[in-house]
Amino acid sequence: MTVKVNQSNCIACGICIKSCPEPGAITRNGNGNDNGNRRVSINTALCKICLLCVSVCPKKAIVTED
Ligand code: SF4
Ligand code: SF4
Repeated sequence: MTVKVNQSNCIACGICIKSCPEPGAITRNGNGNDNGNRRVSINTALCKICLLCVSVCPKKAIVTED
């Protein structure tokens, strides 16, 4: 399983970044508001799939994928 960001739902609020216990697993891209481009990225090599970010995202923009 991996965790990924549905970019069209993300408002770049940064709550997921603050919630993530793994440094660098979620990072903001540029100013975080670049119309339709990737706003936050999950580094699957660093992500431990704790799913905290999935639960805190106010837009349900972070989802799991098999
Ligand atoms: S918590 Fe959700 S809406 Fe906010 S930056 Fe993260 S993915 Fe985007
Ligand atoms: S699942 Fe956990 S470790 Fe992975 S990006 Fe989300 S909060 Fe960070």
